[in-house]
Amino acid sequence: MARYTGPVCKLCRREGTKLYLKGEKCFTDKCAIARRAYPPGQHGQGRRKLSEYGVQLREKQKARRTYGVMEGQFARYFGKASTKKGVTGELLLQLLERRLDNVVYRMGLASSRAEARQLVRHNHFQVNGRRVNIPSFSVKPGDVVAVRETSRPRPRFKAMAESPSRMVPAWLQVDMERLSGTALRLPTREEIDAPVQEQLIVEFYSR
Ligand code: SF4
Repeated sequence: MARYTGPVCKLCRREGTKLYLKGEKCFTDKCAIARRAYPPGQHGQGRRKLSEYGVQLREKQKARRTYGVMEGQFARYFGKASTKKGVTGELLLQLLERRLDNVVYRMGLASSRAEARQLVRHNHFQVNGRRVNIPSFSVKPGDVVAVRETSRPRPRFKAMAESPSRMVPAWLQVDMERLSGTALRLPTREEIDAPVQEQLIVEFYSR
């Protein structure tokens, strides 16, 4: 269950857009993109024209970094999406969106996907009444994701129940008092606000 542990603001700067990897800090003027909106490194401020491959690569990296998925796992998601019936790019985003850590983040129970991932790993969540501590667990329609009974009295969850802060996408129904949510259906492309052009990712893997 490898994960990226390096500096994350660099990732946003490399992709040239906010990926919202740091929770509350992303909404303040401390955001690195607001301060230094150019790629990291010695030649970050130099002029650079991307090749067609470069554009596709950046798009793939952007999606991968947004969801905090490593290279191999991302390729497996793509492989799975490409064997399904439908638009491969959309199916890929749908698979990423259904990850348990993303669902917890979308429900507003964590300030970032990284935090959601940690909370899941630390056994704070259950799916359909059973403890699940696998961030990549795929949530399906009808599944009920909830904070476990033993974790509910924790100050962080109490505070969230008292002041829910985020807009929840329509494919999820959240009951903040109970700190739980239900997946009503699969997300549509319009409901996935990841800043990626999925068609370029398909082209990247189709080379
Ligand atoms: Fe990206 Fe957030 Fe860092 Fe800004 S603060 S660069 S949005 S991770």
